[in-house]
Amino acid sequence: MEELLAQLRSANPGVPDEVIWQFLQRRLHGENREYPASFRSLLDGKNRPDEPASMQPAPESFQLRSRCHCGKCKVVWDLDAHHLRVTRCYCPACRHHQASSFASYLATGSPENGMPQFTGDVTKLQHVCDVLGSVARLMCSRCFTKLAVVPDSGARAGEVLLCMGSVEDDSIPDEVALKWQTCHEDWDHASEPSWWRAKPATSMLLRRSQLLKGACSCGRCSFEAKLLPGEAQHCYCRLCRQMSGSVAQTWVPAEKVHFRWLRSETLRLVRTTGHGQRHLCTSCGTVMTIVYDSQPDCIWPAAGTFDDTQLAEASSKDLMWYRVIHICCAYMQPWYLLPDDRLPRLKYAG
Ligand SMILES: [Zn+2]
Ligand SMILES: [Zn+2]
Ligand SMILES: [Zn+2]
Ligand SMILES: [Zn+2]
Repeated sequence: MEELLAQLRSANPGVPDEVIWQFLQRRLHGENREYPASFRSLLDGKNRPDEPASMQPAPESFQLRSRCHCGKCKVVWDLDAHHLRVTRCYCPACRHHQASSFASYLATGSPENGMPQFTGDVTKLQHVCDVLGSVARLMCSRCFTKLAVVPDSGARAGEVLLCMGSVEDDSIPDEVALKWQTCHEDWDHASEPSWWRAKPATSMLLRRSQLLKGACSCGRCSFEAKLLPGEAQHCYCRLCRQMSGSVAQTWVPAEKVHFRWLRSETLRLVRTTGHGQRHLCTSCGTVMTIVYDSQPDCIWPAAGTFDDTQLAEASSKDLMWYRVIHICCAYMQPWYLLPDDRLPRLKYAG
């Protein structure tokens, strides 16, 4: 496999690794593009009762690796497993910064675990979390991968909470990942956005008519678009994971003629793959949209940027989504368990 990857890389100079990897995966898996509706996790089967041999006790300590998308910011960290807690923060501040349904953190219990030193140029954004209080959010200055959150004060002052989206999957032992699938803390769960567990409505109403506003976490970039009723794609690819810091980002298509920027002081459109670009706020780092080269009339804002109040009002109309799918599930983090929602699960992009 490595050899094939190397061959493809040298035959396709300048093509991002992610694109080459997806091409290879498609070749290997042929037309079998979908997981069954019962698929929950990439470690499915390893924890079935009929396979006790695969279950080893979780190690006491292990070496965790975290890496940003451009590869400049990295950390390797020897961690004591007893101090680790996987948390999901649904507070609006964390959700909007990561433009996701919840922020995914690995609370490391440091200083017991020491303090990691990221290589590369790390930006510190002074921000808040409704649970942790005042925090510094650490991002790669170049690619805006979300790396970690460090509270400034209170009981957890100085504790490093690594953003799970940038943790390298193969540095988490399977036994630990299996435990984290079900063993995690939820913070401010009442603030979960309605689109995260949405099911498609049975109505065949396809005309988008309701306007929604969205904004980055600092508010310097905002938009308005006709989005509802609409389609929602929960994407678990590496880029969505790293640039959000969380487990997935949800994308909702809008026609460009019905999308407009209200504020764009710090907005930048950056090429993130060989086939698409993303709008992000250079002040706070929130990733706001995807624009695909092959869809010049369409723009995909991240549901994580949507205005919560407006969304709550819209959801009462019960006709929000006509298609909801999970995509790029082949890149899902092994510690994540998909909800038992029976929605379609594509292995790669939709
Ligand atoms: Zn980077
Ligand atoms: Zn929070
Ligand atoms: Zn911003
Ligand atoms: Zn993605």
